[in-house]
Amino acid sequence: MNANLIELRKIGKHYDMPNVNQVTILEDIQLSITNGEFISILGPSGSGKSTLLRIIAGLVPPSSGAVYYNGNEFVGTNPGVGMVFQSFALFPWLTVLENVKLGLENKPLSEAEKMRKALSIIDRIGLDGFESAYPKELSGGMRQRVGIGRALVMEPDILLMDEPFSALDVLTAENLKRDLLELWTERKIPTKSIIMVTHSIEEAVYMSDRAIVLSRDPARIIADIPITMPHWRDKQEAAFTEHVDRIYSILTNREYKGHEHAQEQKKQIEKVQEVPAGALTGFIELIDDLGNTVDLYKLAEQLSLNLEDFLPIVEAAQMLDFASIQHGDITLTESGSQFANASVLERKDIFKKQVLAHVPMMEKIVWILQSKSNNKMEREFFLEIFEKHFGSEEAGHQLDIMIDWGRYAELLAYDEKAKLLFLE
Ligand code: ADP
Repeated sequence: MNANLIELRKIGKHYDMPNVNQVTILEDIQLSITNGEFISILGPSGSGKSTLLRIIAGLVPPSSGAVYYNGNEFVGTNPGVGMVFQSFALFPWLTVLENVKLGLENKPLSEAEKMRKALSIIDRIGLDGFESAYPKELSGGMRQRVGIGRALVMEPDILLMDEPFSALDVLTAENLKRDLLELWTERKIPTKSIIMVTHSIEEAVYMSDRAIVLSRDPARIIADIPITMPHWRDKQEAAFTEHVDRIYSILTNREYKGHEHAQEQKKQIEKVQEVPAGALTGFIELIDDLGNTVDLYKLAEQLSLNLEDFLPIVEAAQMLDFASIQHGDITLTESGSQFANASVLERKDIFKKQVLAHVPMMEKIVWILQSKSNNKMEREFFLEIFEKHFGSEEAGHQLDIMIDWGRYAELLAYDEKAKLLFLE
């Protein structure tokens, strides 16, 4: 008997970037998934969740390690999976029926058999009556039903879903989640396992049996949390919110983020979150106004933000030691409280102190500007250095945020036209 449906053994993934050190996305990912499990994969944006899903599907080859399906390492695409994408990925010139049938294109079945299977899944997924409609005639929710139908018609052992609900409005998404969960829990589909990438903790706790949490730069598995509550789950229930809080806490805890070599890492240039100083200021004020400590989950809900929008600002506040996270609560540190209650000028001073203490990149920029006799340096020069660390696209973002923080803290000035950083 095969114990594991999918097994990931020591999966690593890196990309060779031109003129840059190799970028490692995934490191040492070990994961076994058994029959009957619904797994969700969570992690910060850009951590490598989609990459991991694509490796399981065989759409992206791992740089090291191997993926086993039913105990066998496969070559090329994984024969046991069907995949659902966030963007639906439908063919606009094909009808619903034709789009769904496409899932069977490579199966050795008669046309009549393909038709029977396609109509049957269209029925189960709630698209009855829309067989001859074209995607443009459908709402987003209906389009995603087609996307799910196309994956399910293959009767895959494993259904892979990459943020399947995040392009839908809340009500449509809830509706579709419930329908999918019903198919799954009531065994109306022969699927043996579902693996879903999501940025919504609540969605993970609502739907899945196990939450896998990834760190970033590179992604490793930092938590593997069983969620054993029976369906249907009540989002107000204490056990539900405890799970959500716990995962929030793990995701926002900077200690979990990197290597064991935290000390070594410290002096290195570390990527900062792209959060402008103004947004950070507002966030710290808000926490202070709400009484210094706030449940992050509730705060996100109140702000109608999802995790993806929310994490960067929380991480930036932590990085600058304005706030700390414990058990899903965010609390202002002493510097955070001081900052919230300071005058505009005092704030700039506090911000300056925190940035210089916690962001080595800023320290280096200021040092370079001080070292130049005219205290000026071209933007290009910093970009060139940053590219070595972050790659060309990210380098610009990182420099922009340093300029934003530096201006706010009055550490440096920037001439947009001349593209020059300088000391005032
Ligand atoms: P997530 O799904 O968690 O948001 P992804 O798996 O999409 O993250 O991407 C993880 C990281 O890998 C990102 O920093 C992304 O820029 C990088 N990446 C993805 N594909 C490639 C590629 N083909 N070449 C270089 N970098 C890539």
